[in-house]
Amino acid sequence: MNKSTFQKKILVWYQKNKRPLPWRLNQDPYRVWISEIMLQQTQVQTVIPYYEKFLNRFPTVLALAQAKEEDVLACWAGLGYYRRARQLHVCAKNIANQNSFPNNAKDWQQLPGIGPYTASAIASIAYNEPIAVVDGNVIRVIARLYALTGHAKSPALKSSVDTIAQTLIAPKQPGDFNQAMMELGATVCTPQSPQCHLCPVHQYCSAYQQGKVETIPAVPPKKKIQQIHRTVLVILNKQKVLIQQRPADAKWLPQFYTPLEWWNTANPDTAKQWQDLLPPNFFKICKTPVFMGKTKHTITDHHITSSIFGIATTHKPKAPKNHQWTEWDSLAQKAIANLDRKVFQLIIKHPLFNSIAFK
Ligand code: SF4
Repeated sequence: MNKSTFQKKILVWYQKNKRPLPWRLNQDPYRVWISEIMLQQTQVQTVIPYYEKFLNRFPTVLALAQAKEEDVLACWAGLGYYRRARQLHVCAKNIANQNSFPNNAKDWQQLPGIGPYTASAIASIAYNEPIAVVDGNVIRVIARLYALTGHAKSPALKSSVDTIAQTLIAPKQPGDFNQAMMELGATVCTPQSPQCHLCPVHQYCSAYQQGKVETIPAVPPKKKIQQIHRTVLVILNKQKVLIQQRPADAKWLPQFYTPLEWWNTANPDTAKQWQDLLPPNFFKICKTPVFMGKTKHTITDHHITSSIFGIATTHKPKAPKNHQWTEWDSLAQKAIANLDRKVFQLIIKHPLFNSIAFK
């Protein structure tokens, strides 16, 4: 392979074919950084509206650093993998304290939650550092170009790809080159049915020449999925609903708001069982919750099935510690994760709750 011809072909193709994404407007490190964090484990089309909303709400690193964590989580709510939002917030405080962004990959990696991939992406795109970026798309493209063996998630394949990617990078336009390789993987060299006839470098591709495009890289073994059960109780009083904030050390979605919930317990089916679960002054008004249905949600390798119960009451006991009665209309602005957005979306279809709306 002639390396400089390869680089030229990739870069020319990218200039003609890149998607007009909002984070590609300029090389501002703040914008590049936010996009790279949001794009981790999340599809481009899902990220776009969240990215624009987030940049409107927190237009500078200083605005983000000065925000309350609860507001950052609320703005991120729905995008998932909330650890990213927390770490982004911590990083913003660090950067604001230093009064400047790190300007190379090594220094970016000193910040919480910034691994080698993200550090290389930011440093090459925002600062033109000639350092290769290897994501799932690049692994697939390079594995096919060189007909490498090993499954897509294997450390050995990743390590070979890292080495090759660093030798291929265009030294004068590393940011564009990295984005071009990722874009090629995302739009042409796709996992299924790659469009090799549109590929600018097919003449260099070993998998194409050997007819092995569909089998390289090999499919990784399936991960074991764990099933988890949760009982949820939604208590409504006129236009208000009782929610609680999960503690900072909660295993699932700490500091997000949720209706009352109990993890890994059997659903109560007698008044006595409800009495054992409920805060003391709530049993009087919640003797007979109605079963409303189930929701399913996946967090990494865990499938969570929530059994939803609801009750509309005329009394409103004082909310216990870390709980609050909240207007339905303001729920959508709260830090509520998708796990519980699904709960609210399910129950508004029930006659008990049909006078309210949740978006
Ligand atoms: Fe991917 Fe096909 Fe291009 Fe090879 S020729 S890099 S398999 S799109």
